[in-house]
Formats: sequence, C-alpha cells, structure tokens
Amino acid sequence: MSSIIQLLPDHVANQIAAGEVVQRPASVVKELLENAVDARATDIKLILKDAGKALVQVIDNGLGMSVTDARLCFERHATSKIRQAEDLFSLHTKGFRGEALASIAAIAHMEMKTKQDQEELGTHIVIEGSKFVSQDVAVLPKGTSFAVKNLFFNIPARRNFLKSDTVEYRHIIDEFQRVALAHPKIYFTFYHNGSEMFNLPPSTLRQRIVNIFSGKTNEKLVPVQEETEIVTIQGFVSKPEFAKKNRGEQFFFVNDRFIKSGYLHHAVMAAYDGILKDGAQPSYFLYLSVPPNTIDINIHPTKTEIKFDDEHALYAILRASIKHSLGQFNVAPVLDFDRDSNLDTPYHYKDLEGATPTIQVDGNFNPFSEEKPSKQFSSYRKPEPTANWESLYVGLKQDTDEIGHITFENEEVTSSLFNDEEVEHSVHKTYQIHKKYIVSSIKSGMVIVDQQRAHQRVLYEQFLVNMTVNQASSQQLLFPLNLFFSSSEMDLIAELQLSLMNTGFVFEENNTDHIVISGIPVNVTESEVSLVLEQLLSDLQDGIPESSFSQNDTIAKSMAKSLAVKTGTHLTEKEQENLVNGLFACKEPNISPFHKPTFITMRVEDLDKKFAI
Ligand code: ADP
Ligand code: MG
Repeated sequence: MSSIIQLLPDHVANQIAAGEVVQRPASVVKELLENAVDARATDIKLILKDAGKALVQVIDNGLGMSVTDARLCFERHATSKIRQAEDLFSLHTKGFRGEALASIAAIAHMEMKTKQDQEELGTHIVIEGSKFVSQDVAVLPKGTSFAVKNLFFNIPARRNFLKSDTVEYRHIIDEFQRVALAHPKIYFTFYHNGSEMFNLPPSTLRQRIVNIFSGKTNEKLVPVQEETEIVTIQGFVSKPEFAKKNRGEQFFFVNDRFIKSGYLHHAVMAAYDGILKDGAQPSYFLYLSVPPNTIDINIHPTKTEIKFDDEHALYAILRASIKHSLGQFNVAPVLDFDRDSNLDTPYHYKDLEGATPTIQVDGNFNPFSEEKPSKQFSSYRKPEPTANWESLYVGLKQDTDEIGHITFENEEVTSSLFNDEEVEHSVHKTYQIHKKYIVSSIKSGMVIVDQQRAHQRVLYEQFLVNMTVNQASSQQLLFPLNLFFSSSEMDLIAELQLSLMNTGFVFEENNTDHIVISGIPVNVTESEVSLVLEQLLSDLQDGIPESSFSQNDTIAKSMAKSLAVKTGTHLTEKEQENLVNGLFACKEPNISPFHKPTFITMRVEDLDKKFAI
C-alpha cells in the first residue's frame, strides 16, 4: 500500500497553532504588547477599532528588527529569545515559543513597520493569511508597529464565535491592565475608536494601580513586602473593609508575568481568614520574584499558568506576609517596629538540628526571698526600639520610605497618621481597664488590646522562633525539680523532649516514673513548670502531631496559654507598654494563637457617632 502520511503545509500548521494562541482579539493584544515589552520599549501605544475585531495596533519605541529578522519573525518557531532548551530555565522574557506572530499572520491581515535605532531606513511588510503581500524599505521612527486587521477573516466559524464588542473589549482591558501593572516604568496609552481610554505615564507601582483603577484605590491599599531565600514578595492588598462581592482586581505576577493560580489565591484568602464578610473578595496586586530556574511556565500555551518547585513554602510565606501587613495596618499603618529577622524564615526550621539550650545563671536570684519574680516582660523580642510609644510616631516623620521592612511609595499614606500634638501632650500612653484591657490613643482614634490574648500571641511567636530558628536560653535551677508522671505521660514527654529542650528546658536524667529538670525557659518561673507541662500533656491527649512543625506549633500554643498574663492581673505602665509593643512587633498581631481578636480599634468618627444620639 502506498504511504499516506504527509507533512502539513506551513500555512495550515500555522492556522492550527493559531487556534491555540489566538482565541480572540484580546489574545492578539497580549502577544503584541508582550513583544513590545520584550523589545525593551519605554513607550507603548495600543490602538483599537471595534473591540479589536477591525483593528489591533501596537506601536512601540523598542529595539526594532533588522531586514532579515523582520521577515523571519513571521516564521513558526522563529524567536530571538531562546537558542537552546536550557534557556527555558532562565527566561527573562515574556515570549519564547516563536509562535505568536506566525499564528496571527495566518488568520489576519497584518502590517508591520520596524526600524532599529542605528539604521537609516526601516522595513515595511504586509502579510495576509501567511502570504507575504509586499515588503518595502521605508522611512520610519525607531521601534516597531504591528497592525492586525480583520481577525479570523479566513476562518468564518471563529469570527462568528466572537462575542459582542462589549465582551471582547472587556477581555482586552484585562490583558492591557495585566501588562501595564507588570511594567509601571513603561508609558502606556490606549485608544479605542479614536478616544483615549488610558494614559499611564511611568510611575511607581502604587501610582500605576491608582491610575488604572481610579484615585479612590489609594486609601484601600496596604503594602506587602517580604524577602526570603526562595521568594521576594512585593505589592499591595486591600484593607478588609474594602472587599468586594465579585472577584475583580486580583493579580499575581511572577517575575513580571501575570499568572493565575488557584493555590496562591487560596493563600491570600487564608490570610484574610476571619476578617472578611462571607463571600467577600479582597483586591490584591502581588508581585513575586523567584529564581527563573525554580518555575516552569511552559505548561500552558497562553502562559498564564505556572508550576513552582516549592509551592508549599510559597503558600506559607505569602499567607504569613499578608497577614502580617494586614495586622500591622489594621491599627496604624506606621508602627515603626524593628522587625526581628529571625522571624522571617521560620520556614527553614526543618534544616536545623535540635540544639542543647545554653544556660544563663541568674546571679540575683534568691530562693529564700519572699518576693515572687515578676513576669518577665522585658524578655519580649526587641523591646528597646519600640519600648517608647513616641518612637512609633517620631520615626515615621523622618523616614517615610522605609518602615521596618515596608517600603512606601507614596508619602500621603504614611505621613500624619499620628498628630504631633497628641504625641507631645500625651503623658499617659496606655491605660489598663478592669485589669483586662489596655487602651491607647492613636491618630485615627484608639486601640483596645486584650491583655491575655495579646500576651498569648507574643509568647506563642517567641516560643515558635526559639524552637525553629533561635537557640533558646535557659535559667538554671539551684535545686533540680523532680516531677512525677504516669507511664503514658512519660512516653509523651520522651517524644516531646527535643522540642521542649528547644524552648529552654534542660532535662537531667530520664527515669521510669519521673523527670528531673535542671533548667527552664527564661520566661517560665519555677512554680509554673508543672502547670505548663500538665497543660501540655492535656493538650496532647489526642496524640502528638506528626510533623515537627505542628508539634512545635502545639507546644508553643500550649505554653503561651499557660504562661500568658490572665485577665485580672494588674500590669504596671511599663508592662502595659511592653506588652503592646511586643504585640505589634508580632507577625500576626491581630489574632491570638487561638484565632481570637487581640485588639480592636475605634475611630474618632465611631466615637462621634455614639455622642451624636
Ligand atoms: P516570541 O515572542 O515567542 O519570540 P513571536 O512570534 O511573538 O515569538 O515573535 C518572534 C520574534 O520577533 C521575537 O522573538 C522577536 O525577535 C521579534 N519581535 C516580535 N515583536 C517585536 C517587537 N515589537 N520589536 C522587536 N522585535 C520583535
Ligand atoms: Mg511573542
């Protein structure tokens, strides 16, 4: 029998490829805009007629093409962006498949003008349904212009499949916004049927968002910034009170490329857990930078999906950093705390080996003294830089750029959150009410902190850091403690021994029915030891969690619960201050480890309303 397999002619192959790459006018917009960005343009114009059905034109001032390249760019698999397969793992460009122009040219009338900076003359090419119609030399400005007319002219079925102009226009806006948001330093203009729709001069990221989504967006945004070994996160999320019913402005960019990710979206939603009304959707504009070799963007022809090497860590980091920003900004966007870098990466705790705690002997400790050692608020993480409330206010006056880890791009947001007057005249900075709440004045009104929950949060994070990142310090006991337990309890303790040592416990010897403890964590007093351990054993009745992360988490929670100051405890002014400062230096200050709110704020307007009755 004769052979029947034939290679498809190029124009047929191109039409088939076009089915994947070009679904609608918006796909053309995306490909042309991305090519202009890749050509390092600083000024890009998008011109449309009839929602792109009649014309999509993109004019850039980028590198342009040589005569040969101008011709070659319409060939399938013609790309200047990769040369070998390995290049796929270090991509810094949007394109790499060399398919877009060939595909578009197969199903539209296309005209291209291009000139390189150093050349006198440029090239003008007309191509229709993959056929070259003409090629001329022309006097042109530097850069490239692509005009795509009569999309799907030779595939009526696809043309008829297009939706109304309104719908197609909406899709184009989406693509345009994604590219414009990814590149705030590029000047974008956008015309539709002769009217200017967007004019976006080069700006900061924040300003770009505001220029696209209206001036009101500014007050809704909370900056997010996090730098770890595996990812750098920047961008903005919306304050919970501005959440919307529909999923509108939600953007992830990875290495300046817009991507969709249900998984990362989930991480964002998890950060808002408990602070959004049912079904409400926050806006977010999040920019992740990861080493190019840790992602695979090649899994989808239109390249909006992406695979990460370490999705789980990314999830955890994203969630934590957003929570942190939201918590911090809930009360006052400018708490000028000094962030403990140790808290940045409890994520690589798993690489750390259990360390034997070091011993610090408290030389002043007198076991015969009547006086009970007071709670060691001074052992909060970094109390010094924030020990003084004034410093919270003062710092921001001088330095609006860099507050902790957060870079503000817009002065409006950071200045004058606290009144000068208030700072100068405030004598009492905090008050304790009913031995339960601590009240303090902030510019927008006041903040009321639940002392017990706040202290739980502080201790919880402190223990977690000690267990995962730091080596905890211990206080050595003059007389070792003998504590007796049942044999099943002894088994549990044996299993937890390493984690407990990481919190600062030192075990002397293991017996069958009792343990001997010679050192205890610095923030635990001797009389509290048995209480702490009993509470822990009862919290672990249902078994010890398997992963060491959950194990640490459970221990930290349990110890925080046992050791936190209780409602009904009087706190000195210094203790109140330390507690409040300690709270706002936390990663997630707004909730206790048991997901209860740690503080509320009341705006002056809320108070005014109450008095207006
Ligand atoms: P890809 O972007 O995947 O490389 P395209 O089909 O989109 O494939 O483009 C093919 C090639 O044409 C690009 O690699 C680039 O060299 C060139 N090119 C396309 N658009 C432009 C432009 N606006 N300016 C300069 N060169 C361009
Ligand atoms: Mg391209």
